Amino acid sequence: MTAGESFRGDCGGLCFANPTGPMRHRPPEPLDMPRSPIQVVFFDIDGTLVDHAGASRAGALGLFHRFRDRLPGSAERLLQRWDDLTELHFDRYLRGETSYAGQRRWRIRDLFHVTPGEMSDAEADAVYAVYRERYEGSWSLYPDAVAALDALSRYPLGVITNGGSVHQRQKLAGVGALDRFAAVIASEDLGFAKPAPQIFEAACEAMGAPPSACLHVGDRLDADAIGACDAGLRGVWLDRHDEGPGPANVERITRLTELPALVFEP
Ligand SMILES: [Mg+2]
Repeated sequence: MTAGESFRGDCGGLCFANPTGPMRHRPPEPLDMPRSPIQVVFFDIDGTLVDHAGASRAGALGLFHRFRDRLPGSAERLLQRWDDLTELHFDRYLRGETSYAGQRRWRIRDLFHVTPGEMSDAEADAVYAVYRERYEGSWSLYPDAVAALDALSRYPLGVITNGGSVHQRQKLAGVGALDRFAAVIASEDLGFAKPAPQIFEAACEAMGAPPSACLHVGDRLDADAIGACDAGLRGVWLDRHDEGPGPANVERITRLTELPALVFEP
C-alpha cells in the first residue's frame, strides 16, 4: 500500500467491519494456551518494514514545491492535510468504497479542492506521479526491520500487504529486501484487503502452512494484528508509537527487534 501507515483503527478491540461480509465477532483467547511452533513469519510493509511516513512526507513536500501557487498555506499544514486525506481515502479503499487507483485520485483532488469534473483521472494521475517520484526516492527500511529480518532469516518469510503487488514488490526491491521473502501477498491481486480473513488464509496456503503455525506482524492493530488473529494466525501489533496495550488476544511489541523472541519462544 502507499497510504499513510500511522493509521489507527477504532473497532472497540474485538470486532471489525469485514469488507467482504458481515460484522465478525471473536472472543479473546488466553495467551497461555498451547500454541503451534511458528513455521512462517509474515510482515506488513508500510510502517512495519518500510518507513512510509518519512517517504510520504518527502513526496508531499514535492507536491508543495511543484504546485506552490495552487496549494496555499504552510508546508506543515499541507503535510498534515495529506496525512489526513491519505487515512480517509485509504480506509475507504479498505471498506471497498473505492479502488486502489481511486483512493490515490481522491487524495489528490481533495488536496487541491477540486471535483472529478475539474480534474480528470489522467490529470490526477499526473499530479500523483509528482508525489510518487519523491516518495519512491525516499523509501528505506527501518533499522529494526533489518535486525529482525536477519535474526529470522532461517524461517520462510512472507509479506501480506494492502496494495498492488507490482508496486509493493518494487518497494521491497528498492530497499534491497525483496529476495528475503518467499511470497508477497497483495490485496489488489486477491480482491480482499486486511483485515479480511481471506487474504491471511491465501497467504498461509501460498506458504503451505496452517494458519496456527503462522505469525503476522504489522503496525495496524485492526488490519494487521486483529485481522491475523481472526484468521487463526498469531497476530502481533507493532505499536511503534507505544499506544498500547491493545486487546488481550493480541501480542504487542514496540520494536521489531522484539519479534524474534516471540517467534523462537511461543
Ligand atoms: Mg502498515
